[in-house]
This record gives sequence, structure tokens and C-alpha cells, in this order.
Amino acid sequence: MTTVRRLTEDMINRIAAGEVVERPASVVKELVENAIDAGAKRVEIVTAGGGASLIRVTDDGGGMTHDDLGLAIDRHCTSKLTDDLLDIRTLGFRGEALASIGAVARLSIASRHASEPHGWEIVVEGGLVHPPRPAGLNSGTRVEVTDLFFSTPARLKFLKGERAESSAITDIVKRLAMAHPEVRFSLAGSDRGAIDYPVAHGDEPFVERLGQILSQDFVDNSLAIEAEREGVRLSGYAGLPTYNRANGLQQFLFVNGRPVRDKLLMGALRAGYADVMSRDRHPVAALRIDLEPHGVDVNVHPAKSDVRFRDPGLVRGLIVGALRNAIHQAGHRSATTGGGATIAAFRTGAPSSSTAWRPSAPMPSFGNTAAAPSWRDWATTPAPQFSEAAQPAFAAVSQPSADARANAVAANDPTDRPLGAARAQVHENYIIAQTDHGIVIVDQHAAHERLVYERLKTALARSGVARQILLIPDVIDLPEDDVARLLKRADELAELGLAIESFGPGAVAVRETPALLGELDTRSLLVDLADDLAEWDDTTRLKEKLDHVAATMACHGSVRSGRRLRPEEMDALLREMEATPGSGQCNHGRPTYVELKLADIERLFGRR
Ligand code: ADP
Ligand code: MG
Repeated sequence: MTTVRRLTEDMINRIAAGEVVERPASVVKELVENAIDAGAKRVEIVTAGGGASLIRVTDDGGGMTHDDLGLAIDRHCTSKLTDDLLDIRTLGFRGEALASIGAVARLSIASRHASEPHGWEIVVEGGLVHPPRPAGLNSGTRVEVTDLFFSTPARLKFLKGERAESSAITDIVKRLAMAHPEVRFSLAGSDRGAIDYPVAHGDEPFVERLGQILSQDFVDNSLAIEAEREGVRLSGYAGLPTYNRANGLQQFLFVNGRPVRDKLLMGALRAGYADVMSRDRHPVAALRIDLEPHGVDVNVHPAKSDVRFRDPGLVRGLIVGALRNAIHQAGHRSATTGGGATIAAFRTGAPSSSTAWRPSAPMPSFGNTAAAPSWRDWATTPAPQFSEAAQPAFAAVSQPSADARANAVAANDPTDRPLGAARAQVHENYIIAQTDHGIVIVDQHAAHERLVYERLKTALARSGVARQILLIPDVIDLPEDDVARLLKRADELAELGLAIESFGPGAVAVRETPALLGELDTRSLLVDLADDLAEWDDTTRLKEKLDHVAATMACHGSVRSGRRLRPEEMDALLREMEATPGSGQCNHGRPTYVELKLADIERLFGRR
């Protein structure tokens, strides 16, 4: 028979500690938060053994009196919370960090409050409290944590090794330091290189701190973000689309001065870049949300890095809108940054010219080139019409209509066209074309992806999408959450040409796909769509997200690099690009082609 018994205080603390103190970095986070809450202007952190053998945090904040010190290490003792759990203006409020740390490590706190003649030190070892002793120290607090998890060896085994733990600590310190440029932070120890972030004194402390933490390069390659809606303020910096990373580690999000890793915010950040960045790349950004404390609940998890907004739609909309706006306004700048480096590398030894190697301007600008026929003339030339029959996507491009064939015959060698006459394909992905004034290099995959995207959007807007029926339905195993998400939107997906149905738990059957996409890897398409759906809220109609869904689909339905093209296929691709507005950049914001003027080629060879 089981009997119900009350847990001892020690057990309760150890259980709670499991949630608060997951790894050494969590200890650093809690101690530094306490220092910031205490009004410190300077916080020094020292670690050893990845934080497992030593963490010492020293601050020059308000300190604690003898009596406060005795209480502070008890669970549920805090000086920060009033009766209103929704009026939180400090980083801490749960009153459990020090008690939790004391339960799983050796904790010593020395502190001096201005009202007392000397300081006091208290020691807790695996939950056992020793009475306070007088200690000599200036005002402020020094907390030392040694032998973390010595009383819970199971946890110790889960630690990742000194390097990983030490870098997790660095990450936490960076995030807190970024949120508080008014405080000086230093981090040192035998397990790391030293870091020092002096107080930023200029007009824009946040930018200065970003420069210290993320490098000046980020500041130079980012866009200032500033927006406000209904009392929610968004500010910060977001990297240019071309300044991206392979993972999301360089995304720094803050809510009321608190670093958070919030799904809603990360989703909004991603959505803001969705149209200009491929899904396997990640933007770099440091964004702050500030709002009235009642607008956000931070008491979601003991680690306090999740938040719930009272109006999540407002916050998401604010972020997505502001990012899109900023990116849109900087549209051309994003394209040139990457190009500049290429030119520099390319033009070794040659006199440099800023006009030399021009990444593609958006297509309509061709109309401004006096020597070339107006772009609009080309745009009104009938575009080659491709059948939407069930065949591999690119086959469509390779079969120009009678009209296009007639054009091709008339302009047998179409060097007078904006994108010229295809001369060669190199590295199985780049089409080299000759124009009257130079050469054009086209990224065939990027270009084709954009064309499929535009065609898909047009088809959807006009009459709905032609579908192809799969002779044998594709059965795709997916996590149950994803299956549920996809099936919930099955009707909408069907409108967009993708017919799926339930195939038992953890699987869906794909019966029809949009014909335009040709032969597909249906599995990876569904995985990506499920990802998209997870980010959007249940009330968003997919039709409203059409551009995004179309981009996701286009990405899966495009000719990959590595396919050899026949000359007439290449020319057909160039002609279709000319006839398609917005085809100058791919869905990820990269140019689809670059042009090198003859004059610039001559300059490269010192002929001019
Ligand atoms: P919380 O931060 O949620 O209040 P903690 O267990 O982290 O809970 O700290 C308990 C209390 O100890 C705090 O409310 C604060 O009054 C005091 N305290 C902790 N660290 C410091 C510090 N570095 N300087 C001054 N007071 C501190
Ligand atoms: Mg605290």
C-alpha cells in the first residue's frame, strides 16, 4: 500500500532547483539578474570548469542587510514582488533562485548594505544553512557557487563538458549585457578568454553595446527598426537579408529588458524575412519589445525565458510589419552588400570602379538604359506560354509556344534582348549570355524558382491551380502534431492544388499536387508547410499567406542547379525572365542574374 507523506523542505528545494538550475549557465543568469535588479553599475563574473567548479558574481549594487541575507536564501523569499503578479518590473520575482542554488551546490553570499557598518557572509551547502558571519567588503554583493550539483550527481552527468557549458555562460552574459548597456560587464576565468563590455556613454548606448558584442560589422550591415502600436514599442537592429547565418544563435530578443527565447517572437522574426531568405538561413537581429508590464505575463516557466503576451497578434504583426518595411525600403542595399565583396575579390590588381560589377538592379530599371530597348517593350512581348500539364516543371520551360518560337526565329541571335543570347552553361547552374553591351550571368536555379513562384501566384489569383493526380498516393510519415496541423488546413491546401488526407495516426496521403511544380519531393514540401503552419495562428487563412505558401512550393518545384540545359532551353528561360516582373531577384533576396558591361570587362583587363 502506498502512503501519502509530506516532502521535506530539502526535497522540495531540490525538486524546484531542477527547474531553475538546469546547468551552470542558469546559475549565472540568476545571479546576474539579481545584480541588475540590485541596481549594479558593474558586474564581474568569473567561472572555472565550465561553471561546474566555480561561478563568482560580484556587483556594486545595493547589497543586503544581515536580516535580509538570512531570508534571501530561503525559498519564496523576495524583496521584489508586491500583490500583483502582473506588475513585474524586475528580472527576478519568484524568490527561488538562491534557495535552489543553495540546494544543489555550495553557495556563499557576502553582502554589505549601506546602512550597516560591515558586511555579512552566509554559507549554504546542499541545503544546509550556516549562520551569517561578519565579513569585510565594500558595498555590494559577491556570490560564489562551487561544486555545482555535488548533491545531485545525476544532474552532473547531464552536463555537456567544460567547453559547451562555458560557452552557454558566455551566451547568457552577452544577452543580459545587451539588454543593459548602462551596466559594465566583465567575464573571465580559467575556462575562457576574457570579455569586457564597458559602459556605453554615447547617445546610442544600445548600438554601442551591439558593436561590442556582435561586432561593428553587424551594425554596418543592419537596419534600424523602430515601430510602435497600441503602447507596444519595438526597437533595435535587424541584419540585412544578405547578412545571414546558418543558425539562429545570433538572434537576441528582449521583452522589457529581459532576454527571452520566445516562440512567438522567433516566429515573427522569421516571418519578417520569409520572402527574402531561404529557410535554411537565419537572420541576425537584436530586437527589444517594451510594453506596460500588464501586457505580458512572464510567470510562465521558472526559467522566465518564455513570455505570454496579452495580445500576441498585435506583437507579431508589429514585428513582421516593421521588418518587412525596413527590408523593403533597403531592398537594393541588401543586394549590393554581398556583391561588393565579390567585386573586391574579383578585381585584384585592377583599378577599382564602383560601377564595374553591378549586381542586378530590379528588372524594370532596364527601361532606363538609353541604348537598350525599353524594358516595357519587352515586358509586353507575349511571354512564352507553358502548359500546366503533369510533367516535370522544367520540361514546361523547355517547350516554348509557337509565339516564342517565332520570336526566336525573328531575333535569331537575340543579343539585343536585355538578358541577351545564351552562349554557355557552366558549372551546371550558370547561364552565360551575351548582350550587345556585355555579358549576363544567370543563376538558373534562383531564376527558375522565381518564375515558378510568379506563375503559381498568377494561376492562384486567376483561376485556381491545375493539379496532377498521383497514380499512387504518396504516404508520408510525420510527427502527429504536423499531421494534425496539415489536416486541419486540408481544404485550404486543396484550393492551392495540394490534396492530402489522413492516413492513420502519424501519416498523411498526398493524392494531388500542383501541376506547375512537376515532380516533387512531397515529403520535404509537407515538412516545410507544417513548419509554416506551426508558426501561423489558427485564424490566418492560407490564402492570406499565399505569397509565402507559393514561395515554399516554388522552392520545392524548381529546377535544381546541376541540370544541363539545351541552348533553346536557356534562351527560353532568359525570355521568360524578361517577361516576368520581379524576376531580378529570387524568393530569398539573392539576385537571379548579374550583368558585366563590356566597358567594365575592358577595365578589368586594363584596356581602359
Ligand atoms: P528573486 O530574485 O526572485 O527575488 P532570489 O532567490 O534570486 O529571488 O533572491 C532573493 C532575494 O535576495 C532578492 O529578492 C533580493 O532581495 C536579494 N538579493 C539576491 N541577490 C542580490 C544581490 N546581488 N544584491 C542585492 N540583493 C540581492
Ligand atoms: Mg533572482
